[in-house]
Amino acid sequence: MNNHFKRTGILFVLSAPSGAGKTTLCSALRQKPDFVYAVSCTTRKPRPGEIDGEDYFFLLAEDFDRRLATGDFLEHAEVHGNHYGTLKSTVNENLEKGVDVLIDIDTKGAGAIRACDSPFICDALADVFIMPPSLDELQHRLRKRGTESEDQVATRLRNAAVEMEGWREYKYTIISSSMEEDIEKFRAVMRAERYLSRRLVIES
Ligand code: 5GP
Repeated sequence: MNNHFKRTGILFVLSAPSGAGKTTLCSALRQKPDFVYAVSCTTRKPRPGEIDGEDYFFLLAEDFDRRLATGDFLEHAEVHGNHYGTLKSTVNENLEKGVDVLIDIDTKGAGAIRACDSPFICDALADVFIMPPSLDELQHRLRKRGTESEDQVATRLRNAAVEMEGWREYKYTIISSSMEEDIEKFRAVMRAERYLSRRLVIES
């Protein structure tokens, strides 16, 4: 047998409560870019060190609303009082070329993608939840990060408790331990997904 195979693109969805180390995990994964990281749009103000176009596209509320009205978002959600949206164009263009895409979105956004009516997106989806070891540990990590006020930490912890309830909806759950182990486990998911028979097509 001497067939030439090509593979369809995978949409890796990564969700984790705020403070679970997801941003660090994404940055580490992006060091070996065998996928495209789809940068989200947000109305949140940049944190120190965040770069427009790399961490997020930081938009004014009216620009976000305009893009929403034009149908630019694959999904969008309000998280901790700010709006976030995944750009449909980045996701679709890459998946269509057979390039894998990684998005970092909240549990509502992941639910919206799971429920979307596009068979193309549903087939591409591989969703992963990063479960913090405990709420206490999450609280500790959030305080250590020091980028949020006490009120914001409290909001994020309340939201985290709700988000953690949703882990069963995800195809994969990684119980967070050290960053190195989380990266290794996420990479293992990526490898396995890339070998799924159903993702292969024979080139004619
Ligand atoms: P942060 O403000 O800490 O960067 O992110 C807050 C939350 O928004 C995180 O849970 C993150 O995954 C989520 N988020 C980031 N981009 C998107 C997006 O495009 N869509 C949705 N639904 N959530 C997002």
